[in-house]
Amino acid sequence: MTGQQAVGSVGQRREQGPIITIDGPAGVGKSTIAKQLASRLGYQYLDTGALYRAVAWKVRASDVDPADHRTVTKLLPETRITLEQSEDGVRVLVDAQDVTREIRTQEISEIASVVSAIPAVRQWLLPIQRQAAASGGVVAEGRDLGTHVFPEADVKFFLEADVDVRAVRRHDQLQAAGHVASLTQTQEQIKARDLRDQARAVAPLVAAADARLINTSALGVEAVVEQMMAVIASKL
Ligand code: C5P
Repeated sequence: MTGQQAVGSVGQRREQGPIITIDGPAGVGKSTIAKQLASRLGYQYLDTGALYRAVAWKVRASDVDPADHRTVTKLLPETRITLEQSEDGVRVLVDAQDVTREIRTQEISEIASVVSAIPAVRQWLLPIQRQAAASGGVVAEGRDLGTHVFPEADVKFFLEADVDVRAVRRHDQLQAAGHVASLTQTQEQIKARDLRDQARAVAPLVAAADARLINTSALGVEAVVEQMMAVIASKL
């Protein structure tokens, strides 16, 4: 096809390269790993959780009950979410307001987890995610990317780790970002989010049949990224 480059032997050819998906539960190391992998490959990093968090931010700012499907759904057409590349990473804008930092609190994690079970929210975010990755050359992380958002992705990974390990990692992240939370609280919240993500009717958290599983409980970020680079090299 004119203007398109042959970039690999599997999946759909895209202008700027393949789509690589990384799915898995909260605290498994997806963000750190996805960012490093993207930087190693010279690809764009797409954080789909940030989009659900942005919707959650809007729900909270509008004083709407996150479990009220009808009212949350009504908010969507009047919401504008933008991901902007900046020098210090990706900035998240909701209706032109920069919410990059505000969407990283426990409260927003909780609301995001609830609104992400609303089918209309998932449906609304689908074209936004696909558009963001349309040209390829993307490492995307989330929960349902290999199964629903990018079923034709060139390489798919699914990360797993023991819940205790994930709680400690998430707790460290929260503390580093200046948020106050106890380890027990963080662990309870992770378990509740896992349960909601796995139990929802639409696009639940599950590994795609063709995803490579990696257990990160005893592996450092570098080791996981190396494993991924080897898998990618063997597939593309
Ligand atoms: O990955 P992160 O913790 O930022 O995601 C926030 C919430 O968004 C998750 O708890 C999950 O419920 C939801 N999510 C989702 N599908 C995605 C990405 C995130 O349901 N692809």
